[in-house]
Parts: sequence; C-alpha cells; structure tokens
Amino acid sequence: MNITIFGTGYVGLVQAAVFAEAGYNVTCVDIDAEKVSRLKKGEIPIYEPGLEHLVKENGTTERLHFTTDASVGIARSSIQFIAVGTPPDEDGSADLKHVLAVAKEIASHMEEHRIVVVKSTVPVGTSDQVRAMMLRTLKERGRDDLTFDVSSNPEFLKEGSAVADCTKPDRIIIGTECAETERALRELYAPFNRNHDKIISMDVRSAELTKYAANCMLATKISFMNEMANLAEKLDADIEKVRLGIGADPRIGYHFIYPGVGYGGSCFPKDVRAMIRLAQTSGYDPMVLNAVEQRNEQQKHVLFAKISGHFEGDIEGKTFALWGLSFKPNTNDMREAPSRVLMAALWQAGAKVRAYDPEAMDECRRIYGDREDLLLCASKEEALEEADALVVVTEWKSFRAPDFEAMKRVLRNPIIFDGRNIYDPVVASRKGLLVFSIGRTGQL
Ligand code: NAD
Repeated sequence: MNITIFGTGYVGLVQAAVFAEAGYNVTCVDIDAEKVSRLKKGEIPIYEPGLEHLVKENGTTERLHFTTDASVGIARSSIQFIAVGTPPDEDGSADLKHVLAVAKEIASHMEEHRIVVVKSTVPVGTSDQVRAMMLRTLKERGRDDLTFDVSSNPEFLKEGSAVADCTKPDRIIIGTECAETERALRELYAPFNRNHDKIISMDVRSAELTKYAANCMLATKISFMNEMANLAEKLDADIEKVRLGIGADPRIGYHFIYPGVGYGGSCFPKDVRAMIRLAQTSGYDPMVLNAVEQRNEQQKHVLFAKISGHFEGDIEGKTFALWGLSFKPNTNDMREAPSRVLMAALWQAGAKVRAYDPEAMDECRRIYGDREDLLLCASKEEALEEADALVVVTEWKSFRAPDFEAMKRVLRNPIIFDGRNIYDPVVASRKGLLVFSIGRTGQL
C-alpha cells in the first residue's frame, strides 16, 4: 500500500517511519527544503527515542521517501495524510493555513479518487473547510468530475514516546461518514490493531472534537493538581501524600496527577486556547477551560516566586543552575516550556543562568543565540559550578538521583528549587540541602 504524508514534524515523520516499518511505501512531503534534504541523508531534525533507527533503516530499504514536490506524493498514493502544523493564531484559534494549503495542493494535482486524512489537530468543522477548498480548486481546474473523501484521524502520540505510541496506539479514531474510507483506513491500521480492536469509528466532527477534548482533559488534570499543590502549601499539607491518597481511587487513578510548574509543549497550551476560542465563537462560555489556562499561566511563575522569596528579592547578579530546558523529558522540544518563562524572569531580575538539558541544548542555542546571561553547560555537574542555587525544571531520569554531597560542595548555597518534586526534601536535608518543592512546604 502506498501512503503520502504531508508534514515531517513530530507527528508526520514518526507516523511515516512507523508505517514504513510495517511495510508500506510512504512518501513524505514537506515545504521545508532543508529539512527534506537532511532527512534524505538520514539526519533527524528532532529527538525522539527510536526514530533515527526507523528512518535510517526504512530509508535504506526505500520504503520511506522524502520530497518537497507535492505532485509526486499526490500521484503516488490513494491515501493522503495531512500532518502539518496548526499553530495558534493571534486570537488563540488554530491557524489552518497550512492544512488548507495542503488541501489546495492535493486538489491541484490529483488525477483520480483520493482519501484525504486530516491527522493535524484541528477545530470541529475543519474537514468541511478542507472539502470546500478542494471542491473550489477542482472546479477552477475544470476537474470537478474527480472524487475524494475527507476524514479525520487525530493523533494521540506523546513526544518522548512517539514511536512507541504510534506502534502500539491505545486507540485509533477514524472519523468518516464514508464506508469505503472506513474500510481503507481499517485496512491501513490493521498491523497496529492486532491485540484487540482499538479502532473507534465515529462521524468526522466528533473525531475532531475527541482530540481537543482529550488534551483539554489532560491539561485540566494538571491545572487541578497544581491548584491543590498551591493550596497544600497554604495549608501546611504535603501534595505528594495527597496525590497518592487520591490516586488510589480507581475513578481518579495515579496517571497524570503530578504537580509541577505547568504544562507546556506544542499541544496542550495551544489546544486549550483553541478550544476556548472555538467555544466562544460557538456562543458558549468555557468556564472550566478558562480556569485551566489561567492556572497554568500562573503556575509557570511559581518557581521564580519561590526563588525570589527565598533570596528576599535580591536576585540581581546571582547565578542559577537550571536543570531541564525541554517542556518534558525525552524530547528536545522547548515550545511553551516553563523553563523559558523562568529564564525570562531570572534575566529580567538581573540573574545569570547556567543551563543543562540532556537533549535540548541545540534547541536552546537556536532560540536564544549567544547571551551573556546564559551559559549552556556540557553536563549537569558543570551547571552547578558557581551557582547560587539549583533549579530543576524538567524531570529527566538522569536528574533523579544526584550526588547530593558533591552538589553541596559545588553550589554556593546548598539550595534546590525542585519544580517537579523529584527529590525527597527529608532525604536531601539529611545531606545538608534545603529543597523547595511544589506543594509541600508543610514538610520543611
Ligand atoms: P511540526 O511543527 O513539528 O511539523 C509540521 C511540519 O509541517 C513542518 O515540517 C512544516 O515544514 C510542514 N509543513 C507546513 N506546511 C506544509 C505544507 N503546505 N506542505 C507540506 N509540509 C508542510 O508539527 P507537529 O508537532 O508534527 O504537529 C503537527 C500536527 O499534529 C499539529 O496539528 C499538532 O497539533 C498535532 N499533534 C502534535 C502532537 C505532538 O506531540 N507534537 C501530537 C498530536 C497531534
């Protein structure tokens, strides 16, 4: 089976590699010529565990092709995936220009029936816009005899485990009203659907909403826990004990209820905002989602407030070691990362940052370039040198069991601001370190 995927970002590239590994011939189309030329050489522009091996292996066996020429991809496959970005517009709504550009491209070059599958995260009603754009383009070409179907197949992969998530998805949502499209997509996903039937079929609009609802639910869990954590601090309770106490209820569960410094990345912030916009334009006041978004924005400032509080506002001239730049572990993605908000606040207050991240150093260099107040360190130990305190922003595994004694010797003050509660303050205090966590001041 031949498949074409537009967009070689986290979603398109990973899905393409996983499809190719299953035996399909996959053509990846991207407008970024530099990215395509790097991919052709087997160079992977993003860090994603297991991805490089898959791309290299399937590139060598010629099952994975990369091109900037859309017409090649459109001619080759009956199934055309749209996996391009849907960045936030100025008002928070999803900007559909890339999605609609691909729709136009497909209609401009297709010569026979095509199944268009929207994998990008898009507001309810986008498939109608894609359909309208294609009809208009076909009409302009004088080829309105050609047929096509537009379906929705939202993606639920998580950055950091994207290959595993695509290889073993926990659900495959197929949104279509066309029996032929459903049959084709069921066949396409059959290699990933062997253990039990993970395919959930529904109409296109419900499929589009499912993706937003899923991300909004997850963001809600995080903001809720952050609110409880902030309350726990006020009430001298320990949120980590509360977390275990509530997680034991199977209706709540232990997953995704970790307090921290707010959610970031390319999905939750933008999807929550897009859902808020969509609700508002539908004449509905999304009270819960507004609160989720507000709590998250505030939570990104919590670490700085703790730092400033401890040093009584005397931040200017101080240096802080910062462990973790990516918005979560196992990715180099720094989009909307809490580390960026923290660094901006520290710089604003006149402090310097010595930063280390296992994968996001190049990304950080790309974003900030050369700055006097940012030193990118080669190791987590180097970041500690001459720092007034350590701030942990991302919970990478390699940060979890540090040598506290060595840390105490190197840091100017034996202080850790732990934005992810990865250290037990009691254990650390036995080694002479003072840990400020999220939601557990009562324990100090
Ligand atoms: P990305 O920004 O990493 O990549 C998008 C790619 O699309 C870029 O390489 C860009 O050059 C390319 N592109 C833009 N216009 C194009 C065009 N006209 N033709 C061909 N290529 C074009 O984006 P991403 O993170 O892969 O996300 C893609 C979509 O999937 C978004 O809607 C996102 O919300 C959604 N999504 C993302 C994740 C995630 O974890 N990143 C998870 C699920 C869903």
